[in-house]
This record gives sequence, C-alpha cells and structure tokens, in this order.
Amino acid sequence: MRVCVSLVEDGVKEAVAAGLIAQAKGADLLEVRFDKMTKLPEDLSAFRKLSLPRIATLRTEGQGGSSQHGDEERLRFFRRAIRIGFENVDIEYDSPLIYRLGRELRSVGLICSFHDFTGTPSKARIIDALITTASKGDLAKVAFRINNVGDLKRLLEAARLFSVTGNKFVLLGMGELGEITRSMSGAFGSAFTYASVEKGKEAAPGQPDVETLKALGDKPVITGLTGSPLGHSLSPAIHNAAYRSLKLPGQYLLFPATAAELPDLLYLVRELGIRGLNVTIPHKENVMRYLDDVDPLASRVGAVNTIVNKNGKLVGTNTDVSGLEKALLAAGADPRGKSVLVIGAGGAARACGLVLERRGADIWFTNRTASRAQEVAKGFSGRVAGHGDVAHMTFDMVVNCTPLGMQGFPDELPVDPQVFRAGQWAVDLIYNPPTTRFLEEAAKHGAKTLSGMEMLIYQAMDAFETWTGQRPPYEVMAAGARTG
Ligand code: NAP
Repeated sequence: MRVCVSLVEDGVKEAVAAGLIAQAKGADLLEVRFDKMTKLPEDLSAFRKLSLPRIATLRTEGQGGSSQHGDEERLRFFRRAIRIGFENVDIEYDSPLIYRLGRELRSVGLICSFHDFTGTPSKARIIDALITTASKGDLAKVAFRINNVGDLKRLLEAARLFSVTGNKFVLLGMGELGEITRSMSGAFGSAFTYASVEKGKEAAPGQPDVETLKALGDKPVITGLTGSPLGHSLSPAIHNAAYRSLKLPGQYLLFPATAAELPDLLYLVRELGIRGLNVTIPHKENVMRYLDDVDPLASRVGAVNTIVNKNGKLVGTNTDVSGLEKALLAAGADPRGKSVLVIGAGGAARACGLVLERRGADIWFTNRTASRAQEVAKGFSGRVAGHGDVAHMTFDMVVNCTPLGMQGFPDELPVDPQVFRAGQWAVDLIYNPPTTRFLEEAAKHGAKTLSGMEMLIYQAMDAFETWTGQRPPYEVMAAGARTG
C-alpha cells in the first residue's frame, strides 16, 4: 500500500524534521500542510532535504483546513512551492487558482480535492465529485464523513463504478466507519492513502499513523466487531495487540451498525473480503438469518458471536462457549459434577448452559422472567429455581449471566447474597468493571471469584485463531485488555 504522510507541523524546520522521520518509517509520499503553520513561510528551500515526492497543500477553511489566506497570497505561495521543486500541489476543486496558475501547473502533478466533513451524499453525487476533481486535476481526491454503514456501501459502489474510467483517484472515508477505506485503500481503488507521522499528529479524523498502515501491506487481514452501541469496546485493543505480537499484517476495526444495517454490513464483509466479525449486543441472535450457515454449536446456543468469512460464505459460530469453558478450566473452576446456579436466561446463559452440560454439571437456572428460565433449563437438561428459593439452596458455583452490575446498568445484585458461601466459585460474565459488586459480595462470604474479563480474553483468542489460524498468546491479549 502506498502511504502519503501528512505533516501538520507549526513551521518549516519542524515539518522537515517530521518529514525525515516519515521517510525513515517507510512513507512513499509527503504532504506538507502549510495551512497548519502559524505563518506562511517565504523560504521553502529546506524542503529540498526531503527525498520523497512532496505535495504542497494550503487547505482552505471551507474544505476543512485552516488557511484564511486570500487568493493573491495563495497564488504567490503555490508559485514559490512549484519553483522550489514541490512535485505536486493540492488545490481545492472550487478554487480559481487552478485556472490562474494555468500553464504553471504543467510541471507539477495537480491533486484536485473535495471534502465533506458532514456526511456522504448519494452514489451519483459521489461520482459527480470524482468526475469534477478528475477533470481538473491529474489525481482526484475526494473525502467524505462516513456516518453509517450505508454511506460506506455507497462509497465502495461509487469507487467501483468510477474506476472503469481509468482515472487515478484517492477516496477517503472519515470517522470510525471510514477507517477501512484507509486500511484497505487498494480495495477502494485508491492510488494511495494518507497517514500521520505518529499518533496525535492526525490531519483528519480517523487517520492512522504511517507505521500501522505500512505494516498492513497490500492484503491485510481485517476483522472487527459489530453491535450497537459499541462505546469503548476493549476488543480492538485485545485483537490489535495480538496482530502486533504475532507480526501479522492485520487490523481489528469497529463497525457500529443498527439491526436494519446488518445486510449492508455483511455485503461489505463479502465484497471487501473482511476475514470475520465479532457480534455483540443486540445482534447476536438476529444476525443468524443473514448468514450462509450457522455451525451446530451456535445453533444450539441460538446466538452467534463470531462470523467467519470462508471465501465469501459467511458462517456463524460461538466462541463464548469455548471462551467460558477455557476461562473456568484455567482458573481451576471445573464445574464437572458440581451443582451450578446460572442467573439469567439470555444468550450468555445459554452459552453457559452448554458449557455446564458438556462438563456434566448439575445445572440450575434462575431468571427475572421465570418462563424464560423454564425454556432454557429444558434446552440444557437443567432445573429451575425461583429467585426467592436460591438463598436456601447450596451451590458449588454461581454464575451471573445478567447485565446487572455492568457499566451503564443498575448496580444491583442479581441474586440474594445469602446464596454465597465459603469455598464456592462466583463467576461474573461482566467484564466492565472487571470486579463487580456481585464478585465483591461473594468474596466477602469467602467465595473464590472469576471475572468476565477472563472469558472475554479466551473468547477473543478463539475467534482470532478461527480467523487467522494462529493462536495468540494469552498474556498479549490480557495486556491489550488492560491498556484498552
Ligand atoms: P441478554 O440476552 O439480553 O440476557 C440478559 C438476561 O439478563 C436476561 O435473562 C434478562 O432477564 C436478565 N436481565 C436483564 N436485566 C435485568 C434486570 N434489570 N434484573 C434482572 N434480570 C435482568 O444478554 P446476554 O447476551 O445474555 O448478556 C448478559 C451479560 O453477559 C452481559 O452483561 C454481557 O456483557 C455478558 N457477556 C459477557 C461475555 C464475556 O466475554 N465476558 C460474553 C457474553 C456476554 P429477562 O429474561 O427477564 O429479560
């Protein structure tokens, strides 16, 4: 992948220094954002120290930059830049400078650019923007804010339609959902993409740093998470730590989507060759209808938390089951032959039921809605205990499969604390916060505790291995979760 580093420094000296760093980091082109400088420099000769092709940009405020200079000053500046040897200039599609510079532009490459920081228009208008910029410049650059999955789909379709013209272009999606237009710039037909020299020096929202992009290469493994809302998910930190540690050219991205957007998102997964997705609340059940196949384990649980793209065929599986089982065994909490109380009757409770059934536990379910507890108990050879009864019963293990105690939910105990006993295992599937009131209360009664963070890490390890064929080290993913 060809990467252009945007230099957003205050002055010439700083920009040249950052340019030299970008060159050492493997950049292919350098863009100097002169509009980011406190003062427009007269002497540009220091930029001759840079050996890579350079682009001079003086982005106007109307196009998302900081330049308030008048046309005369801008004209004089671009003449200086061309004279000093800048190989390319980037001028906004609506600027009269394109005509005023006229023949002077013959000796340089003209990047004609269009930006919309608010949203993405219809497919026809995206193509219009590409045609307009391509007709004025040697390279068309268009950038749109991606607000939803539909925006991203239209951008890909427009890129594919326009690419038949043979014109060179760069297409960028700004914002979280637009990141893939940078990581997979080749799949969107872009001649190159933009990066920062380091984190914190981004020229536009969602711009990755040059080392991250260069490490991805031309055919990166892209995986990610869908759900709504995704908030501050730990999964990118967990998975990206694994990609880095195994030196695999891959990236884990967030794809927030509503239920109605799932078909379009899965279209993009197939079309772009995204290797797979994790699925979280509220789509674990309703995503199943859009998949080509659901494996027996996920069918049994009635929920998919991992989608695998097998050459365009999307298969649903569930690594919550294996993740919970591995977390329990790693902690020395094998439920084999033990009596276990599961609180809840949703997808997590069903995954837990399957683990307990596999390990041969004596399974009890309790739930706010008793009828749902009956249903899930029937499915996993368990029995039902009323909320009021459990305090008088004895369990070797109690597992919270409700969101009570999770950040954003009521900080209430999901069960009467009298259920806790010394020597018993208390397992909470919640990982945010890592230590819940449920676990604190259980510990006070002398119970051994296991946080949902362990299950989160093991389910992530299993999903990563399913997608890449490589098993990431536990410690790497755990450290990723801690820093995430
Ligand atoms: P779900 O399908 O929505 O089920 C939620 C369950 O909790 C239902 O049984 C529901 O009871 C009960 N519940 C919800 N609010 C309640 C309340 N205010 N009082 C009493 N009960 C309540 O959710 P899920 O997918 O099973 O997930 C449950 C939890 O597990 C979530 O916190 C999730 O983050 C966690 N989880 C963690 C991991 C991990 O890797 N650590 C993996 C999966 C899930 P009703 O039937 O009465 O509605």
